[in-house]
Amino acid sequence: MGCLEVGTRNKQRVVIVGTGYVGLTTGVCLAYLGHKVTCVDINEEIVGKLRNGKATIHEPGIQELMLEARDNLHFTCSLPYALPADVIMIAVGTPSKANGDADMSAVEKVAEEIGANLDKDSCPVVVNKSTVPVGSARRVETIIKTQLEQRGVKAQFFVASNPEFLREGAAIHDTLYPDRIVVGAEDTEAVNILRQLYAPILEQTFIPPACAKRPADYELPVFITTNPTSAELIKYAANSFLAMKISFINEFAGLAEKVGADIKEVARGIGLDKRIGYRYLEAGLGWGGSCFGKDTKAIIYTASQYGYPMKLVQAAIDVNYRQRMIVIDKLQAILKVIRGSTIGILGLAFKPDTDDLRDAPSIDIIKKLVEQGARVKVYDPVAMVNFRKQFPELMVEYCDNVFSLSNGCDALVLVTEWQDFSSINWKLVGEKMRRKVIIDGRNMFNREELESLGFTYMGVGR
Ligand code: NAD
Repeated sequence: MGCLEVGTRNKQRVVIVGTGYVGLTTGVCLAYLGHKVTCVDINEEIVGKLRNGKATIHEPGIQELMLEARDNLHFTCSLPYALPADVIMIAVGTPSKANGDADMSAVEKVAEEIGANLDKDSCPVVVNKSTVPVGSARRVETIIKTQLEQRGVKAQFFVASNPEFLREGAAIHDTLYPDRIVVGAEDTEAVNILRQLYAPILEQTFIPPACAKRPADYELPVFITTNPTSAELIKYAANSFLAMKISFINEFAGLAEKVGADIKEVARGIGLDKRIGYRYLEAGLGWGGSCFGKDTKAIIYTASQYGYPMKLVQAAIDVNYRQRMIVIDKLQAILKVIRGSTIGILGLAFKPDTDDLRDAPSIDIIKKLVEQGARVKVYDPVAMVNFRKQFPELMVEYCDNVFSLSNGCDALVLVTEWQDFSSINWKLVGEKMRRKVIIDGRNMFNREELESLGFTYMGVGR
């Protein structure tokens, strides 16, 4: 018999530790659904801003939803202050270590803190929402138990793995309308508590917020329950597969250029096959962001511990990082010499609708251009502040808009396909450039329109 009366507790007390892209989105959405949520972060600046009602990530809809859910939402730097809770979610970062393994130190620290603060009357489900290697649920359980033993406290708790699949830029939509929710746990009580937590999503009983309408064709999500190891592996398998799909189309894009095919047509031709599906088949400069690079490396590391090479995943990584450098090849093919040229970079974020720069293709491309002696100008609608902070050593010129970016450029390179860039006035831009060259790294622009205006246009795989 568990210590929670499952079924009677529609509104749960939820603590989310780590208030980044995943933690804040999850916290805000669960608060919107009626749960009492306290978000904990060690970063005082983040907590201070959130307490003042200011979203600390750039994510469509998050600011509005935070406001709507404010009565159910609290922020603190102190985990003990946030307890007791029915559910404690760990949503801290798990960056790559030098050997590719996931750095679990933040997760372990949170587990220690939980063990150091649980009291005997509480019985929470501790949830690994961070992307963590197989065995992490057990590791968290051991850490908490050890702390409790050291304190001589007999508190009951459960541990579950509940990997997150949201995409930055569509995080609220993905949280409220997921394809599936995966829970890996050994105890039925833990599963039931989490089923209860997610009931409004599983049954779609909530009124959709204005910022994230329910898609007309949305079907109820599947609640997958499994053991923690399978749940942990599901997350790595999902990200490895998506990464592989992107690298697959990029590999074909390279061949399409050589044989004279159009990769957009090829992608459509295969994507309409339901066994393949059209999503994540857009040729371009490859993936970036906090997850695909880190998670593919981490799963390769895990497999290596078993003497098991992950050849497909490794190939996906190799193709991805080669893909970034096609910008340099294309610029060399047109400009001949990069040294002394002025190159304008359209977009810095790893993808549109986020200010996240982790593993962004723009970083490698800019570093290479600077190394080759180019003068580099950049413009991004939201990510320039972060870029300036994170790469103060990079000699780039920050521009206020596309026009000042194009001024005096020998080429413009589209790296991030922000929606704003779809309505660029190319005639005016062309008048400002020294040479009218466009490298369309995301196949976003209209080749005919640009060529009719005298631009030399190069896309990817076309
Ligand atoms: P993030 O870096 O944006 O946020 C992590 C937050 O945790 C930071 O605000 C940090 O200050 C805080 N933190 C670190 N140590 C802490 C501690 N001891 N106590 C309290 N707070 C602490 O990370 P993120 O992008 O939200 O990712 C979190 C996890 O979710 C990672 O494992 C990631 O792989 C996974 N994930 C991320 C995404 C994504 O799109 N970002 C999607 C799915 C899964």
